[in-house]
Amino acid sequence: MPSYDPNNIFAKILRGELPSYKVYEDDKTFAFLDIMPRAPGHTLVLPKAPARNILDVSADDFAYVMKVSQKIAKAAMTAFEADGITMQQFNEGAGGQVVFHLHVHIIPRKAGLPMKPPASEKEKPDVLAEQAKKLAAALAGCTNGSPPSGGAAGSSCGLP
Ligand code: 5GP
Repeated sequence: MPSYDPNNIFAKILRGELPSYKVYEDDKTFAFLDIMPRAPGHTLVLPKAPARNILDVSADDFAYVMKVSQKIAKAAMTAFEADGITMQQFNEGAGGQVVFHLHVHIIPRKAGLPMKPPASEKEKPDVLAEQAKKLAAALAGCTNGSPPSGGAAGSSCGLP
């Protein structure tokens, strides 16, 4: 397997060299909207530590990315009034990976609506900005220990 390329596009986003529609950040993870979403609210969750994919990431970093992915999935259910979530994660070109910094796709789904094909359409900047704001707000509710905005009393986004 090739080694990690520090000039991949997501590494540049993590370093702030390229812009992104951020929805969540902590000391170990960063999450932002996919610019070619397969459904509204399509989010990518990354470890900050360099890793190509699950084949070279540390077990602890991967476990933490999954914890944050769960939290974002729960908040996305509320923010996008979703009926379900599709989670995807690709490893190496043969496994469908295009950008070689580990990321988990969180895709909010509506019943009966198919996902768009991958990389089919770039979303408008104002739409992405609005969606990022909505999801970040739902997540902020979660990190405060309160239910996501609009969520049922007693609901929780869980860890971390
Ligand atoms: P994968 O590597 O898992 O196959 O997919 C890479 C994902 O990154 C795709 O869903 C694609 O739409 C998304 N993507 C590609 N370039 C950019 C970019 O510059 N910014 C953002 N936010 N997403 C990107």
